[in-house]
Amino acid sequence: MILVSSCLAGLEVRYNGTHCLNQKIRQMLEQKKAITVCPELLGGFSTPREPAEIIDGDGADVLDGKAKVIEKSGRDVTDLYIEGAYITLKKAQELQVTAVVLKEYSPSCGSSMIYNGEFKGNKIPGDGVTSALLKRNGINVVSEEGLADLLLEEGSNYTD
Ligand code: SF4
Repeated sequence: MILVSSCLAGLEVRYNGTHCLNQKIRQMLEQKKAITVCPELLGGFSTPREPAEIIDGDGADVLDGKAKVIEKSGRDVTDLYIEGAYITLKKAQELQVTAVVLKEYSPSCGSSMIYNGEFKGNKIPGDGVTSALLKRNGINVVSEEGLADLLLEEGSNYTD
């Protein structure tokens, strides 16, 4: 079983009420090989919500108290992002998932690149808050761009 970002499964949970459907992930859900999770909704947000970015670092820095998650209007939402990350970790551990596929670039779900905190569309290397926490706890996190490699690694577990 794997855990996947809800927005990759076609659920309209992104900050602006849209999704970013990945057909392979939807297929895996239909085959009951994946379960969805949205760390931001678990942290207490609703949809739509203000966009947020990490300033002064990445998700690992947020967990260490060295960086914050800020909404575009300036509200500090760091605690909500951390809360969502810990609930996601608990879910992943309870389900004993073999991997987690999360949406790249998100301040929660990004797993190699995130926006740089300027709200100008510029990206930097780094993890979102949830990705950082999952990785620290030994969970294999990939983005939708790494899904093909994950499927190859996992062999026939997830392929047709
Ligand atoms: Fe939710 Fe993650 Fe998708 Fe953002 S990227 S909408 S936190 S699942």
